[in-house]
Amino acid sequence: MIIVMKMGASKDQLETVVKKVEELGFKPHVIHGEERKVVAAVGHEKKKTDLYDLQLYDGVEAVVPISKPYKLASSEVKKGRTVIKLPNGVSIGGKKLCVMAGPCSVESEKQILETAWAVKKAGGHMLRGGAFKPRTSPYEFQGLEEAGLKLLAKAREETGLPVITEVLNQRDVELVEKYADILQVGARNVQNFSLLKELGQCKKPVFLKRGLSSTIKEWLLSAEYIITSGNPNVILCERGIRTFETATRNTLDLNAIPVLKKETHLPVIVDPSHGTGYWSYVIPMAMAGIAAGADGVMIEVHPKPEEALSDGGQSLTFSRFEELMGRLQALATVVERSL
Ligand code: PEP
Ligand code: MN
Repeated sequence: MIIVMKMGASKDQLETVVKKVEELGFKPHVIHGEERKVVAAVGHEKKKTDLYDLQLYDGVEAVVPISKPYKLASSEVKKGRTVIKLPNGVSIGGKKLCVMAGPCSVESEKQILETAWAVKKAGGHMLRGGAFKPRTSPYEFQGLEEAGLKLLAKAREETGLPVITEVLNQRDVELVEKYADILQVGARNVQNFSLLKELGQCKKPVFLKRGLSSTIKEWLLSAEYIITSGNPNVILCERGIRTFETATRNTLDLNAIPVLKKETHLPVIVDPSHGTGYWSYVIPMAMAGIAAGADGVMIEVHPKPEEALSDGGQSLTFSRFEELMGRLQALATVVERSL
């Protein structure tokens, strides 16, 4: 249920509502909208009619049910869009598009620093790179772990680019949070509910990739786990789903972008690198993602893709990344965004 406060309702009136919501056994989440405040009361569906009495309270405009199974992630609860603010003036979800780029895996100091500078020079906003890698085979490169996190932190220190990196399990959340500006949850972990709950306690934003076979509803319910556990800063990333098609690694579901824009206020990023699996399809699908309304892109870039320890075939060289940035620049004005 959402308790919509009147425009100009006082702090005391809001506090009384919050207390009553708690007394009735629900968890109150106060959302500060552009015009007015709302209190989302989440809890057991069966008891929700008890909340209708709040209609009689001072300062309350209306009590309305939230029809979607995801509550706090839904656009029914929050009208404006969520904009996530990061260090050095970077933000995600506003008018300005966000480009996050870097290697699939952090491999060495030279590789990550060279890439960070190339991303920065081309106009990218954030550096990506995996230190903990979720690999299909246990015999493949598993990442440099904490040493990789330290290299990412060094690259941020030198270039000023905020960094995003994956956390594979609950145990490592504190460690990754120490180094990263955004914590990524990979496609394989989208329904690791204990990890999601732990990330709810985390102060940094969470980048939630879509699972290989997640429906949009399941994906948004995973986002809901993080938000209801206390962290409202969730970014969704469409990275392709598994279909019967074998010409590409995954099928980048562009439909998901307008669907998410309707269903949720959370920012949406598109990852055409994992979405296609081939570098030559990355530029067109990055453009398509932005044209469909995404708030930014995540791109794999490597100094020598042919030597990459993971995902080299879908990684752009520095010059191809520069080409992408030039093309996104032209597209940004068409879609009334900036880069
Ligand atoms: C990655 O970003 O390198 C990655 C492993 O992504 P995904 O979880 O989408 O496969
Ligand atoms: Mn990868």
